[in-house]
Amino acid sequence: MGRTYLIKPDLDEDYPVIDYGKGVYLFDVAGKRYLDASSGAVTANIGHGVEEINEAMMEQAKKVSFVYRSQFTSKAAEKLAEKIALTMPGDLNWSFFVNSGSEATETAMKIAIQYWQEKGRPLKTKILSRWVSYHGITIGALSMSGHPARRSRFVPLLADFPVVSPPYCYRCPYNKNPRNCSYECAKELDVAFRRIGPESIAGFIAEPIVGAAGGAITPPKDYYKIIKEICEKHDILFIADEVMTGFGRTGTMLASEHWGIVPDIVSLGKGMGAGYAPIAATLVTERVMEPIRKGSKVIMSGHTLSANPQSSAVALSVLEYLEKNNVIDDVDAKGTYLKNLLEKLKIVFPFIGDVRGMGLLIGIEFVRNPKTKQSFASELNMTEKIVRAAKDVGLLLYPATAGEDGKSGDAIIISPPLIVTKREIEELVSLFKMALTKVKQELET
Ligand code: PLP
Repeated sequence: MGRTYLIKPDLDEDYPVIDYGKGVYLFDVAGKRYLDASSGAVTANIGHGVEEINEAMMEQAKKVSFVYRSQFTSKAAEKLAEKIALTMPGDLNWSFFVNSGSEATETAMKIAIQYWQEKGRPLKTKILSRWVSYHGITIGALSMSGHPARRSRFVPLLADFPVVSPPYCYRCPYNKNPRNCSYECAKELDVAFRRIGPESIAGFIAEPIVGAAGGAITPPKDYYKIIKEICEKHDILFIADEVMTGFGRTGTMLASEHWGIVPDIVSLGKGMGAGYAPIAATLVTERVMEPIRKGSKVIMSGHTLSANPQSSAVALSVLEYLEKNNVIDDVDAKGTYLKNLLEKLKIVFPFIGDVRGMGLLIGIEFVRNPKTKQSFASELNMTEKIVRAAKDVGLLLYPATAGEDGKSGDAIIISPPLIVTKREIEELVSLFKMALTKVKQELET
């Protein structure tokens, strides 16, 4: 008997078989409807079953589905690269297409190292990152990830890239109140660079808003300005991992735009293909590309399916869809509406400790005691309880971890497709309330 072996060895009721999707909803073969409040893994940004994306994929398939990147490029990949350059801030004009977010961050790391090699500085090879972060599942990407739970089994294979604290205001690593924040966590990077030696460091990577590892941990206003300045001061490239935040999730094409910075290198994934095809990208500015173009000429990386024409046609069509329907313009207002409704739930459910995030990337951290912020015991599996109760009532949530050590603590991400309507947001919150009521009753018995 053949079976997929993705998450669970036993396919029980918890792991239903999906039949089809439409808009923000998924329907399983038993006819149950789920409101996809997580866009899968923060991926289905334009919702499910959008005809024109499928048509674009089919049109491309009729022409050609595959060309090998070392022999040819394709109209679809070139048009996509052109459109990305027009849509992105600054001069992030060069796209290197890959197939997953992990490949995109791996490529970002390699490009940073190659950049310094081409500039005659081959000792600059280290990549630094933050604790409470996730940059992907492959060994290089996991080396960058400050996610103890995902690292633990593979520690002997991993490099120790995470060195600095995250901008985790709810549990400020410097015990400051957001009102008197003096950006100690950002300034920590300067100390780390000096201690390790900037002459050995190629780049610093960070998620603009921390996703899976923290549940939408959002930095204070000037954090990235300070980070970028410190990177520039020490001649170290700044890599923004926008795999989760890119393509409009937070109300701007890149989340970096909220803080007025243009990263040197950007990794994209998830919302880029919006779940319709596997595609991701590493974007590079003119400054970073210049020595590579003049030197080796090729980026020393690549995959057989890089710049696949069919996936490129999908990503192009997703970008056109976002533009034609002004989808990103409404994300901020929709996110604010949803966040306000979620904030109100704190009164009824005191275990909601923090509601945070930007646009339609909203995180909720759950705590045993909202005053002391004490976490639930990990044996209680609070996140799992909530995600399961929500699934029972037909609501899909994205489980995350939280907590100051980055391995304990309970959090979820609520990130519906960007096309969600006001009525659907209200339905989402009402289903969420039902799920939380069930968990609250369970806790009380
Ligand atoms: N970077 C970030 C910020 C992510 O959230 C993820 C996935 O969750 C990745 C990288 C890895 O992407 P993928 O799962 O497509 O390899």
